[in-house]
Amino acid sequence: MTPDKNSRRNFLKGCLAGGAVAAAAVVPETAGARDTLQRPPEGLGLLYDATLCVGCQACVAACKRANDNPAEFTAMDKLWDTPLDTSGHTFNLIKMYRNGTMQAKDAEENGFSFMKTSCMHCADPSCVSACPVSAMQKDPVTGVVGYDADACIGCRYCVAACPFGIPKYQYDSPTGKIGKCELCRHRAKDGHYSACAEVCPTGATLFGRTEDLLAEAKRRLALKPGAWTTVPRGRLPAKGETPEDAAKWKGPLDQGYEAQVGNYINHVYGETEYGGTQVLKLSAVNFEKLGMPNLPPRSSAATSETIQHTLYGGLLMPIAVLAGLTWVARRNVVPDDEPAQGGE
Ligand code: SF4
Ligand code: SF4
Ligand code: SF4
Repeated sequence: MTPDKNSRRNFLKGCLAGGAVAAAAVVPETAGARDTLQRPPEGLGLLYDATLCVGCQACVAACKRANDNPAEFTAMDKLWDTPLDTSGHTFNLIKMYRNGTMQAKDAEENGFSFMKTSCMHCADPSCVSACPVSAMQKDPVTGVVGYDADACIGCRYCVAACPFGIPKYQYDSPTGKIGKCELCRHRAKDGHYSACAEVCPTGATLFGRTEDLLAEAKRRLALKPGAWTTVPRGRLPAKGETPEDAAKWKGPLDQGYEAQVGNYINHVYGETEYGGTQVLKLSAVNFEKLGMPNLPPRSSAATSETIQHTLYGGLLMPIAVLAGLTWVARRNVVPDDEPAQGGE
């Protein structure tokens, strides 16, 4: 055995042993879970109340106009914008649930109901977590999940990561971009809030601070079904809002009207789902039947980042890879005290 070969073997053995020890030492320190992120206190959002929605689709048209999106035709006559689902050019859609004779609105059996489909502006968005180039970003103050087309590389990780199926690829874009609702953040500089809420004739889509929208949703849930109550439309003023704050937004404030309280399911969708979302929903029909997924209160971003940080942040993965490579290298080393195959 030559001294060179001996030292090489010892080196490989050392790598293996060292890798195992280091990996074992790293695991307990990095295995701590990252918590689900919370909504920012001033976070903005929408409250969609399916019992107030009349399915007029004014919000769908307004969303197209506000985002300069083209019409999508699915009927032969090509007269109307008739998207069948959200797409790279349709960021907001009102879908319809139907059952049996469809006689009663907001009834699960022999009834029908509407449901808005658009970005939920999650408190801890998995699209942001999955994006490798930070093209999806959550604003730390408003909580709006915005998209930067210039940064996007078109990998579609965000498409796969979103539990609501919201980011959509623009197949007709030469550079492969994503389309999704950004809560009309581009309109805020001119004092305009979300176009869908601005045009909604019934207040079924209401814009405001998510904490205020949540309080409004709970107020409605506490009322007796069928009772009359004042329902706000457009923008819900923030609690403690000053006239100066109010003046930042265009449009009349007092747009409330008297409406009957819906026969709600006692649940505000988005309060806790997936760690909470900034778009909240009320309905009289089971949310799953309306296409809203049943999600746990922990965001998948928290889970996946915990795993990633354990593997990469703690150097466990590189060490494991090094140990694996070392093992392969060692297996291929011809022992110096045995003749090589086919040799003497
Ligand atoms: S709904 Fe989807 S696209 Fe919107 S913030 Fe949540 S994860 Fe992102
Ligand atoms: S906030 Fe703007 S982009 Fe989002 S659904 Fe409403 S109109 Fe469309
Ligand atoms: S504009 Fe309002 S009432 Fe009309 S479909 Fe949209 S949410 Fe429903």
